[in-house]
Amino acid sequence: MDFKEQLKSAVDISTVVGEYVRLRKSGTQRYMGLCPFHNEKTPSFTVHVVRQFYKCFSCGAGGDVLDFVMKIEGISFYEALKLLAERYGIPMPKRPLVADEDSRLREAIFRMHELALESFRASLAGPMGEAARAYLERRGVAAETTAQFALGYSERSGRTLLRLFEHHGFPSAQIEQSGLVRKRDDGSFYDYFRNRLMFPIHNESGKTIGFGGRALAADDNPKYLNSPETPIYRKSSVLYNLHRAKEAMRKEDRVILVEGYMDAIGVTAAGFRPVVASCGTALTAQQVQALKRHTQKIAVNFDPDAAGANAAERSINLLLEESMHVRILELDGELDPDEYCKQRGSAAYQERLEGAKGYFYWMADRARSKHDMHSTEGVVAVLEALRPAVQRISDRLERMAVANDLAGYIGVDRGVVLDSFRKAVAERQEKALERPKVELRPDERVLLNALVGEPEMRSVVMEELKSMEAIDRLPSRRIFQAAFALEATGGPLSFQEVNSRLEEGDQNLLAEAVLRDDVESSREEVMAAVQSMRRSGEQRRVVDLRARIKELERAGNREEALRLMAELPKLDPAMRGRK
Ligand SMILES: [Zn+2]
Repeated sequence: MDFKEQLKSAVDISTVVGEYVRLRKSGTQRYMGLCPFHNEKTPSFTVHVVRQFYKCFSCGAGGDVLDFVMKIEGISFYEALKLLAERYGIPMPKRPLVADEDSRLREAIFRMHELALESFRASLAGPMGEAARAYLERRGVAAETTAQFALGYSERSGRTLLRLFEHHGFPSAQIEQSGLVRKRDDGSFYDYFRNRLMFPIHNESGKTIGFGGRALAADDNPKYLNSPETPIYRKSSVLYNLHRAKEAMRKEDRVILVEGYMDAIGVTAAGFRPVVASCGTALTAQQVQALKRHTQKIAVNFDPDAAGANAAERSINLLLEESMHVRILELDGELDPDEYCKQRGSAAYQERLEGAKGYFYWMADRARSKHDMHSTEGVVAVLEALRPAVQRISDRLERMAVANDLAGYIGVDRGVVLDSFRKAVAERQEKALERPKVELRPDERVLLNALVGEPEMRSVVMEELKSMEAIDRLPSRRIFQAAFALEATGGPLSFQEVNSRLEEGDQNLLAEAVLRDDVESSREEVMAAVQSMRRSGEQRRVVDLRARIKELERAGNREEALRLMAELPKLDPAMRGRK
């Protein structure tokens, strides 16, 4: 067994996928969830535990556990192998697997980030880290929180990491691409982060991929400095703290979105685990999709100032487009989430969280405070302000329900609100992915399952099927042929082996037959399917023969027509015994 097969047999696909996608059990062999690879509202993404295969019945994405990890992490085959091996404690082969150039570079950059993390942590604990420790103390960050979030300190000298990387023998070309050092005009290097409190940023699997650094000196700008984009760090798809929060997000079915590192840390320390931060950048569609894989319910808790409210409003449009259920968590006393938790305590924050308003009420409040609701102009302006957001609700019924609620809330006649939003409703194009529906015969489905399923069942039907003409007329004939070909070469015959030999259309058909439902046929059912397939073959031959006889008669060839007619009773079971 090569390492790939060994690894695949050691990890369970539903466990791996379940780390990225909120799955629920569906039948005895399958899990279902919202597809992480396209935008959908009703789950068509299936993970089959017996076949160890995932399949989306909407967009067609499918594959084994390695395909999934490659696709969702955006990494190479080699990196996916390595990631799974590390995560599930499976020793990699002694002889190193061949990694391509890009994978090797990324691996080196990951390693440099691990070294940087340890170096920053050591500096924070050391004599140089005094000012940073004082800052943390002022902000009320406990020692265990500092450890939990692996906070650190980057020294003033600007040569700490550079020396470290050179000492570990990284070539300067790799060092330059790490994002942790910068190049001067004269070609020499210096550390990117200097005299800053360091927040490591992780990817979803928990690897350090970048840093945020907070200035400690009052005149240091900017206040927050983030790693530049590197081969391992794409800002637009990363959320701070997601790797720690995701399990709680799935379990509690909600997430709290805050703005800054300190907010995420403070709220987590107050006992709320499903917290992520957008880290100063505007929320992106990729970030929303990453959240949505774990939960669709979000409470947005931005800073209480105008900038925070504007950022919230911008984020919300994106969230609505991805069908997230959005609430706005507002804090009183001009406190940011971190300060609020520290000054008012967990219970007060919990209360605010539970009482968070649905997005539309919040937005209506904002619009109302700006306009005079006693004037017609004011009402029109408020409705105008709300319309773009209503338009973004992808579900038609939900849109109508929201319009209805809003009418009551802003005290405007329901008809007026519905009229105003009708346009929005009509303007929206429903983007549904429609795949041509393939109809599989029940006997065809049973036989395909027997063929790629249990070896005992397969040996019962194999010979019979190979000699059956009816197979060649089925939409799934190429699947049968691929299985026959595999058997002829003596190769292992399994769902995945057959699947890997098919074109995309046939892969979808096979998935339709063996992944869509829990099909476990008894020996009797399989035999009945063989019978039924054989009968349909005979019937087909009778139909063909009759057509041929008619043709001969029309052509005046009575002799040949009679000869063929004598063949009929042999073929047609209904005519057998009659003379
Ligand atoms: Zn999909």
